[in-house]
This record gives sequence, C-alpha cells and structure tokens, in this order.
Amino acid sequence: MTQQDANQITLETPVQFIKGVGPSRAKSFAELGVETVGDMLEYYPRDWVFLPEPVKIVDAGPNQSVCLVGIVEQTDWQPYRKVPIFEITLADETGYIRAVWFHGRYLVNQLEPGQALLVHGKVTKYKHQLQLSNPKFIVLQEDQPRGPEAFSGPVYPASAKLASWQIKKIMRSHIDEFAALMPELYDGAFLKKNELMPRQEAYRQIHDPVDEDTLTEAKRRLKYDELFLMQTGLALKRYHVQHGAPAVVMRSNDKIDSRIRKRFPFMLTEDQEQVIAEVVADMGKEIPMNRLLQGDVGSGKTVVALYAALVAVANKCQAAIMAPTEILARQHFQSIERFLKGSRVRRELIVGGLTGKKRTAVLERIQNGEVDIIVGTIALIQEDIDFANLGLVVIDEQHKFGVHQRASLRKGRSPHCLVMTATPIPRTLAMTAFGDLDVSTIKHSPPGRGEVITRWVQPPNRNDAMEFIRQRLRAKKQAYFVYPRIDSENNVDSEKTDIKAAVDEYHILNEKVFPEFKVALLHGQMTSDEKKETMADFRAGKIDVLVSTVVIEVGVDVPNATIMVIENANRFGLAQLHQLRGRIGRGQSKSYCLLFAETEDETAISRLDIMTRSRDGFEIAEHDLKLRGPGELFSARQHGLPDLKIANIVEDFDLLNLARRDAFSIIDGDPTLKQSEHSTLRQEVIARFGDKLGLVDVG
Ligand code: ADP
Ligand code: MG
Repeated sequence: MTQQDANQITLETPVQFIKGVGPSRAKSFAELGVETVGDMLEYYPRDWVFLPEPVKIVDAGPNQSVCLVGIVEQTDWQPYRKVPIFEITLADETGYIRAVWFHGRYLVNQLEPGQALLVHGKVTKYKHQLQLSNPKFIVLQEDQPRGPEAFSGPVYPASAKLASWQIKKIMRSHIDEFAALMPELYDGAFLKKNELMPRQEAYRQIHDPVDEDTLTEAKRRLKYDELFLMQTGLALKRYHVQHGAPAVVMRSNDKIDSRIRKRFPFMLTEDQEQVIAEVVADMGKEIPMNRLLQGDVGSGKTVVALYAALVAVANKCQAAIMAPTEILARQHFQSIERFLKGSRVRRELIVGGLTGKKRTAVLERIQNGEVDIIVGTIALIQEDIDFANLGLVVIDEQHKFGVHQRASLRKGRSPHCLVMTATPIPRTLAMTAFGDLDVSTIKHSPPGRGEVITRWVQPPNRNDAMEFIRQRLRAKKQAYFVYPRIDSENNVDSEKTDIKAAVDEYHILNEKVFPEFKVALLHGQMTSDEKKETMADFRAGKIDVLVSTVVIEVGVDVPNATIMVIENANRFGLAQLHQLRGRIGRGQSKSYCLLFAETEDETAISRLDIMTRSRDGFEIAEHDLKLRGPGELFSARQHGLPDLKIANIVEDFDLLNLARRDAFSIIDGDPTLKQSEHSTLRQEVIARFGDKLGLVDVG
C-alpha cells in the first residue's frame, strides 16, 4: 500500500481495502457483521489470555505455572478409575511430560496423537514424575504462528472461515492506525473527573492489552462511551418530546380532589396516593406528561388512570383510555362505569362492534366536544378519531410495549401521556429501553390478598403433595393444575417427550388420583363457548380441580382457588411462572403454589429458587433479566432497546448511572447539541442510536 492509500483510510473504509484482508476475507468478515474499519475497531474480543512465555519441557520444574508447546505422542481415556481421567503424553525436542484431565471424557474427540498443542497450567509431582493436571490448552493449526506472543492477548468470536488468531493478526498490524481515527468525545477535565482513559488508547488496549489492569481500564472507558451515547440519545429524545407543542396546564384543588375521591368506595393505597401526586404534578405543567406507570395486575392502576382522566375533565379537556385488546377495553369501560354511576361525566366505548350510523354519531360527538372520556382499543382510537380537545391519553399496554404506538399517537397535538404496564420493568431497563420516560411504580396491591406459599416439589415428594392437595380439596378449596402442552401426540420436539400432556394427565387425575372430586379440562383448542362454560362452573364451585394448559393466564379471578400445581415448572420462564401464580392468593385465605419439577439444569433451578423466595414482581423481573439477558426479555429491537456491544446494563449498572447523569446534564446545558464542542458527540449519537430512538429530526 502506498502512503497515499494509507492516508485515505477512514472509519468508513470497507475492510476489503485493508492490507491482509482482500475480497474473500472481507466476505468472511461481513458474515461476522464487520463491514468497515469502524466495525472492526468495535469487533471486541470475547476473552483475553495472559500466558507466560512458553518454555522447553526440560525446563519445567515442579510448582511452576508454565506454558509448553509440543506434539501429542499418545492419548489414553481411562474410564474405569475411581476418578476417570484422560491422559496424554506431550513431547518436544527436549523431553516428555504427562498431562491429565479429570473427568476428561469430552477430550476423547478433541485430542489425538500428532497434534501440535499448547498447554498452560501448573506442574505437579505425581509418583516421582512431573505432570500437568487439568491444564488449559489450544490445539495449534498448521499455519498458526508459534511465537510466544501468538498465544497471549485477545480471543475473538470466530467462524469456521476466520479463526481468532487470524483476526488477531490483522488487528494487531493495524490497530495503531485504526485507533488513531477515533475522535475523542470529552475534554481533559471530563476524562479526569470520571477517571476515563483516552479513547484511542482504549481501542488500542482492548485489542492488544499490555496487562490486565490496563485492559480493565480500556473496557471501562468503552463501556462508558456506549452507555453515555445511548443516554445522550434518550436525553435528546426526551427534550424533543417535551419541547414540541405544549400541553394544556391542568389545575387541581381540594374541591376537585375530594369530588374525585368520592367516586371510589375505598381508601386509596399509599402507592396510589404517591403515583396520583406525581401524575397531577405532571399535568399541571406546560411540558406534556410522559410517564410510565407500572404495577402488577390488580395493583390498582385503573383507579389512577380514572383519577387522571377526571382531572382532565375538570379542566374541560377530553381523556382517552386505550387498551391493547377489545376485551380489555370493555373491562376498563365496565369498571369506569361502576365508579362513575350517576355522574355527569359523558363517556363512550369505541370497539369494533360499533358500526354504521351509531359510530358516525359517536365520532361526531367526540369531535364536537360532547364526550369527556373515550375508552377503546389503541388501534381504533389512533385510527380515525378527531378530538375536540384531547388533554390526556392513557395507554394500557398490559404485557407488551409499543414504543411506536406512543410516538405516532401524538399526531401533532400534545396531550399529557400516561403509559401503564403490568409487566414489572427492572430498574435497569426502565433507564434504557424506557429511559426517556418518567417512571411511577405501584409496588403493593390493595389489601385483602392472602399469603401465597410456594414450594418446589421433587419427584420423591409428589405423593405427599397430592395428599396435601386432597386435604385442601376436602376443605372445599379449589385447585389449578397447569401443564406446558395440550397432548403428547403433537409433540414435535422428541427431547421433550417427558412433558406431561394436559389431556393425558386430566384422565389420570380424574380417574385415578382424585376420583372423589370433580375434575375438568380447559385448553386453547376448545371453543370459546366451552371455555366460558368451564370457567363459569369453576367460578361457581362446581369444579374442584381445573386441569389446563397456560390458557388460564387470561384474567380469571376465583378467590376460592387457593392451590396451583405447575407441572414441569422448569420448562416455564420466570415471567410466566409469576403470572400464573398471580391467579391464586386472590382471597383472604392462604394459597399454595406447588412447582413440580425434576431438573439439574442450573438456570432452571435458579428460577425455581427465586419463585419460592419471592412474590415481588420487580425482584423476579430483575432476576429474569440477569438469567436471560436484556435482549431476550424484551425482544430488544422491537421495543427500541438499543444494541450494546460491550456494556451490559445489568453488570455495569453503576457505570450506567454515571453515564446517565452525565448525559442528561450535558443535554440540560446544550439541549440540541449545537455547540461546536459537541459536534462529534452529536454525530455519533445520531449515527448509533438515531434510527432506534427516532432522532433523525432532532434539532
Ligand atoms: P389494575 O388496573 O392495576 O390491574 P385495578 O385498578 O383494576 O388494577 O384494581 C384491581 C381491583 O382492586 C379492582 O377491583 C379495584 O376496584 C380494586 N382496587 C383498586 N384500588 C383499591 C384500593 N385502594 N382499595 C381497595 N380496592 C382497590
Ligand atoms: Mg387492569
């Protein structure tokens, strides 16, 4: 490459034009998601190895930690020893040494005579001979370099076409040149305050660290940048939403407050009071409210929504309450009707069944300001309603979120906006995926809900558990039995043939286990009339044991059902277990959730363990996040959770907090990042998170 070419390299240069890559390797890089020099800089190693320099076998002494390179002379799997071992003899031109791996069965197909091998571990003496026990090892490919520096350093996520050492070789020869392309984002004072390593140095060190401490510093710097850029994006978005068209300033006073409270036949809970205070304060501002209200099903969110709607109505504005499905919209409408009986507040329900002239008439009245509270599905309300004076929008998203729904609803107006969700959102996610919203939380449900005891029941204790259930049934309590599948024949996945099928199990429970009780079956393939009838019988106490698939997730409320058995509980995710368990503990008396499971899977055991310890949806969601990772929990992309390459919002929570504070304070001082010292920052935020956060039109 000429000097001229080298000068032209930028972060956007395709990797194909990099020395040592070329068209064919560029394809392999593309398969790994690496298209440009910039991508390459952020193709982070998945691990780093710090090995001592290899020594000759003759120089390896007892109790030393050594690195040896040699040829595998013999291998031997010895399964019949008390502790089975896999043993090899390694040779170089100076001698031989034995290496053993306890329980090394997995090595039978990996190591064979003739291979070149690098081993790293501690030398011990066994029966007067030196050996290595459980050393780490790398099988060396033929063309792989053997020099001492070849083994230390980064380990890259590789593919069949592109090995880690090949990526490392290319990276090493260019890293200084590439890293020099990265502009610094902060001034010296900022770096010092946050103890951040310079950016270019961080990119160099992450790919070619001098030692472990420097590597730690480099990681911290790059994680901070990623979190900071994301939070700056969220802060920009928030500013943008807040400073579009202003909202109506809504006032409340003691008179309005006491008039609203009279509508509720109970005292508000402390949490409801708190949240209502937050909502009313927001509505009193010209900046549109943009608040997320989270609380388990039944925690009393609808009451908060209605309170807010009535404040809007008292301020001569309309309020729209939107639910994701028609059933939920009807439910909201019915409970609002109950509270507003005899009130002069005019309300309408907009659902699919409303058609023709009737519909036209209702839409006209809304347009003329003759309706105060409008309840309907999100789709219908967004589609075609013209409001006279929409002052508040409440969106009940139940179990799913839609960032886009929130965005498109605004249609140029700026109503106050309250989003409600029954899925507890861990703090970490609230600060990222929903980082542009204010968050209110209802932690404790209204009183009158009984204790729920949760136990993991292993196979030897099944019979005792059944006996216990029998006693509860005799005491006229009712039970749910939940299964992961409908029937064993549709079992496509042969690995899961041990899954108990609800249909089969229904017959066993009905005929053999509980012949003296009335057992019924409920599953998703029954007609909706059959389902309704079965549920009605269960509610009326005509059924003692309801065997079902997970369809009973749909909001059923049977206070006398105090037992829930979840069969193969290890197959369910935490969120689902928590939701299922929410069906019991609805009355005053004690309830029992029995998780039947036989498993040695560690993650499954952790889930069962958390379930037995906690009934707190937030705690459970936090654990879920840790066990599964944020992406999976919320199917990241769809919900606007930005991709992170190096930071982890759970593990790096403290850094996230720091970055968030810094980002929001920068946007405070320069809301659209138009100051010249922020131009690099602005460019990077838009490039990285602009699409995802809808920032293209900012500033
Ligand atoms: P969510 O919308 O969070 O699922 P709801 O607002 O529908 O919960 O409330 C669940 C049930 O609890 C309803 O029957 C409601 O009337 C009742 N409820 C709400 N708040 C209280 C309270 N402070 N005291 C007693 N019952 C309440
Ligand atoms: Mg509700």
